[in-house]
Amino acid sequence: MKQVWLGTGWKMNHGTRESVSYARELAGYLAQQPPTVQLFILPPFTALAQVAEILRESPVLVGAQNMHEASRGAFTGEISAPILHECGAALVELGHSERREHFGETDYTVNTKVLAALQATLIPLVCVGEPKIEREFGVAADWVRRQVKIALYNVPTVQLEHVILAYEPVWAIGESGTPATPKQVSQMHGVIRGTVAEIYGSELAQELPILYGGSVNHLNAASLLTQPDIDGLFVGRAAWRVTDFIQLIALVERVTVGRVYV
Ligand code: PEP
Repeated sequence: MKQVWLGTGWKMNHGTRESVSYARELAGYLAQQPPTVQLFILPPFTALAQVAEILRESPVLVGAQNMHEASRGAFTGEISAPILHECGAALVELGHSERREHFGETDYTVNTKVLAALQATLIPLVCVGEPKIEREFGVAADWVRRQVKIALYNVPTVQLEHVILAYEPVWAIGESGTPATPKQVSQMHGVIRGTVAEIYGSELAQELPILYGGSVNHLNAASLLTQPDIDGLFVGRAAWRVTDFIQLIALVERVTVGRVYV
């Protein structure tokens, strides 16, 4: 039985007050309604410790949206994996397209961060996805394969079970994004799993959670989750309000009830 994943990254939204209130409401709901899917939330750094504390007794994993690759040192303004771990983070998002676009993140820095996260026992949630132009030129699969191969470079086989990948095509993310079709997502997830299988073998690749993110909402979540190879959803805007996230949880649970993977 393979877990279905559902999580949300809040980007640069929600100060501590809003984050705490979101986490409390979520914890209250889950105490009444224990989830059948694996949930995670990624608040801003400043709210991380409080949110993690509120959700400590719940099955929700709390994580960060980025980290520095060094474990400590003269890197003013940065946060390391051990610091995140101490705050109660269980996972860390790496390589989001906004970090690649605005903050100089590259496939190589993502790889270094993946290794550093694993070293600190954080689960790296690695985002990959092609820009629109690459898809138009017909090289989307090549682009994503390269991202996956570099992100996982030197990740030992025994550590693969602690990694999550998220396919987030750049053109599908955010206000101006167009959600990818279930078929496009399923095809790319097949490419990603195939790439992982080339490195680690198909058995381990089959176990790897591959999530989809990019304009997921209540209307398209079900059609995505009923496709092969889609192990969960990574949601932005449509889960920034706790009531929306709770509705999505219920929807995803309904759609995936009894879902068993080979
Ligand atoms: C994201 O930015 O990772 C994301 C999935 O955002 P949205 O759902 O808002 O497109």
